[in-house]
Amino acid sequence: MDIFNKLKTLCNSCVLHLQWIPSHVNLKYNDIADSLAKEGTTMPQANVELLTYPELYSRRRAFANIFWRHPPAHSWYRSEGPGATIHFKGDRKDQTALARLSSGHLKTLRFSRGDKKFNICTKCNMIGATPQHLLDCVALVYNDLLKRPDFVLEVMKVSDLMDLI
Ligand SMILES: [Zn+2]
Repeated sequence: MDIFNKLKTLCNSCVLHLQWIPSHVNLKYNDIADSLAKEGTTMPQANVELLTYPELYSRRRAFANIFWRHPPAHSWYRSEGPGATIHFKGDRKDQTALARLSSGHLKTLRFSRGDKKFNICTKCNMIGATPQHLLDCVALVYNDLLKRPDFVLEVMKVSDLMDLI
């Protein structure tokens, strides 16, 4: 009603035209105003006032958009995987075996009262076949997994240990 009354008062002194301006339909000046408004939301404000949630959301979204279009230049973002990633192009089954061996999530892993339990090693029949023991049992080390994954797989296959991985 306030707006209506103000318009009514204005109409006493001048001719008033109300016109609906559709936005986002390639109107040159609307688009310019739109992009200036978006640009303005990312600029630091002179007066420091508390921001409302929609203002914070808008700024965050604008920043996220910038980072999304221009990813950080750090070398981590260019690599295919983290440092300890196994570079191995074998078939899916072998890749799964290597991932299980390196992560410790072997097929035979069970949890009992909060402890990890592994099947007994079928090569030495001495102790549980933890990932570390499997490597020890065939005289390999963890670094072999990272540096020579195909060799580790071959040794595990020849030693008939794949059922434990
Ligand atoms: Zn063993």
